[in-house]
Amino acid sequence: MLPIAGSITSLESLAKAADSFAKSESMPVLFVGHGSPMNAIEDNRFSREMKTIGKRMGKPSAILMISAHWETKGSFVTIQEKPQTIHDFGGFPQALFEAQYPAPGSTWLAGETQKAVASNQIAFDGKWGFDHGCWSVAMNMFPLADVPIVQLSLDYTQTASQHYALAQQLKTLRNKGVLIIGSGNMIHNLGMLSLKGNSFDEPYGYDWAMELNSKLKQDIENKNHQSLINYTSFGKAASLAIPTPEHYLPMLYTLAMQNEKDSLEFFNDSVVAGSISMTSFVFSS
Ligand code: ZN
Repeated sequence: MLPIAGSITSLESLAKAADSFAKSESMPVLFVGHGSPMNAIEDNRFSREMKTIGKRMGKPSAILMISAHWETKGSFVTIQEKPQTIHDFGGFPQALFEAQYPAPGSTWLAGETQKAVASNQIAFDGKWGFDHGCWSVAMNMFPLADVPIVQLSLDYTQTASQHYALAQQLKTLRNKGVLIIGSGNMIHNLGMLSLKGNSFDEPYGYDWAMELNSKLKQDIENKNHQSLINYTSFGKAASLAIPTPEHYLPMLYTLAMQNEKDSLEFFNDSVVAGSISMTSFVFSS
């Protein structure tokens, strides 16, 4: 059993579990709250914990990344051999625009992903590279950029339950050495950002955000996936916390790939800037 690491002060217990994941037949599956793009290059509590978790993953054969920042009509997987680093944001320091993440792509994983999903036609895309939802996480977890990464897009014509059903079919990739990462934020309202807590790495959340963060975690712990798929029924808190679905949906992908015997571990469990949840989790067995 891995230790439960529900707080950002648990680095020591996380370190003690080093190498645990590499021994399992089935690869872990993660949901990572990416938050500010600055987490890619800043040394802060969130980037440090991403690094700690990354070290425990060993070296996967490849990574399949479902990022909030690639929405398309229809489903696509990247097929570039040398994907470019996309700087899909504005108003950040020059150092962030100069950041590069030179990991290779994987035509093998693009093909395996296409084969795994029978219900949807997944097409190959030769133009998209790594958006910041992908590389800001990967840069921390795999700083050597030596693990091939394929991105799967979010088809904006699909409902939450259709996304979940598609993701269930990807679970088989866990047995092929593939690490699957959903990258978003389960609470994400940029229009209501508050920097009362001074910065993006200082925990501070509106009451409704704190309450919903707890509710979402409870549903995850109780494997109440149906409730999480039907998040719009959470009422006003959900409309404030999830005004658009793209940062929430990557979490449903991770949930859909949970195995019965997986243990659950939260990390980076904080709300920041009022309306952004950094809460992340890993399923592993
Ligand atoms: Zn984002």
